[in-house]
Amino acid sequence: MQRASNAAPPPPAGFNLLRIAAIRRLVLWGGFPALFQSLVLAVYLTLAVIGWGHLTPTGVNAKLYAKTNIVNLVIWGLWWPAIIWVTVFLGRAWCTVCPLELVSSLAERAGRNLGLRQRPLGGWLAKGALAVCLFALMQLLVPGIQIHRMPHYTSLFLWASLAAAVIVGLLFKDRAFCRGFCPVSLLLNAYGRGGMIAVRAGQHEAGSNRGAHLCPSLLNPPKLNSNRDCLVCGQCVRAGAPDDMQLLLRAPFSAADAREPLASWPLTLFVMVVSGFVTFELCGVWKAAEPVFLWAPKQASAALNAGAAAGWIQGLWTIALVPLLLWIALGLVTRAAGGAASFGEAWRRLALPMAVVVAAGHMSKGLEKFTSWAGFLPHALREPTGVNTALQMNAKAMPQPAAWLSLPVLSAVTMTLIVVALLLAIREARLADPAGFRKRLPAIALLSGSYLFLVFGWGGWLA
Ligand code: SF4
Ligand code: SF4
Repeated sequence: MQRASNAAPPPPAGFNLLRIAAIRRLVLWGGFPALFQSLVLAVYLTLAVIGWGHLTPTGVNAKLYAKTNIVNLVIWGLWWPAIIWVTVFLGRAWCTVCPLELVSSLAERAGRNLGLRQRPLGGWLAKGALAVCLFALMQLLVPGIQIHRMPHYTSLFLWASLAAAVIVGLLFKDRAFCRGFCPVSLLLNAYGRGGMIAVRAGQHEAGSNRGAHLCPSLLNPPKLNSNRDCLVCGQCVRAGAPDDMQLLLRAPFSAADAREPLASWPLTLFVMVVSGFVTFELCGVWKAAEPVFLWAPKQASAALNAGAAAGWIQGLWTIALVPLLLWIALGLVTRAAGGAASFGEAWRRLALPMAVVVAAGHMSKGLEKFTSWAGFLPHALREPTGVNTALQMNAKAMPQPAAWLSLPVLSAVTMTLIVVALLLAIREARLADPAGFRKRLPAIALLSGSYLFLVFGWGGWLA
């Protein structure tokens, strides 16, 4: 996990939300954000309990059951797409209400009180090396065991995450779970940089060292110049004098933030992995593209007589081989344009601008999923396990809710989204490296063009 730079930041730009009395009172209140985290924890535990022991009923399509069971519907159909959109627009706002941070922090405090020798997080762990592996594993579980369609597996995932938060909290200090173990921390770090909510120093504190010890994540609040690691927990706001810190609402992708010309390796690997997964997700909506994407892993599975392991082969193809091939192509284009001396340099220079394009692809698929799954929510609230609903819908005794948006409309909306992301990615590349960004443009255009082509295909315009 990266730390905020020690360079003095430029003056923060935006409206300070703490000027609104109600927001100021809320952030300064001792129960913030723990009360919200506790409420989300209650929902989290309820879902983990409901999902336990439920596999797809015999004779029901697994894809249908994923939508009728409240656990999979809420976690994978509503929360996951929403979190992508919220992070891009608002930064790490999810972290403010995240129950795992609460649980891990309570465990950390308990470990301290019990006199356990808690270790600091260091080296590659703190840079996110394990977090990127856990994110890749999470993506692998989608085709591997169909975690997104099996409530029991989703429940296991929720309990395992909770247990990991407790164990890491007991054994490590300084919010170690968030800084080195959370599987989505790099996604929030990469996608949330342009978010409109930001904690920044007040005019008098910017660049000082007076609040350096106030942040449980070991950031230096007066010198914050990026959203990448700040969980918007408000601790530094409460601990300092009034007006030391601000809670800014600003335009997306603020030019005042610091940009890194070279991303860290864990972040670069995260963007590479997620680019493959997003490519698969975008292909999955266009019926003509999905067989093309899956042709190679299907051949491999047939040749190896893989049987039930075919899903894992598809997973490795999606999160390892496709990203490698894609990024070799992007690296070749960048090197041919003189934008990098090696593949490693090309990938690290491209990672953060590309994260904007990949996030737009992720948002596109998220919008498609949210709008086609959300209609199932009233059924799932009525019958949370979803077994009877699935059986009736499967037997055509009950109609399946229609998607909120047609594919041509989704195609038009998401094409716009990706064009905007292309322009923003070019701006990010320019702000990170004003002298050399032009040499990275062909690669940015290549990935954006590929995603644009895929969402164009969603509309059936090519049929
Ligand atoms: S980094 Fe992960 S565990 Fe920590 S608050 Fe954010 S989402 Fe929750
Ligand atoms: S203490 Fe301040 S700087 Fe640290 S994570 Fe919380 S809001 Fe961000």
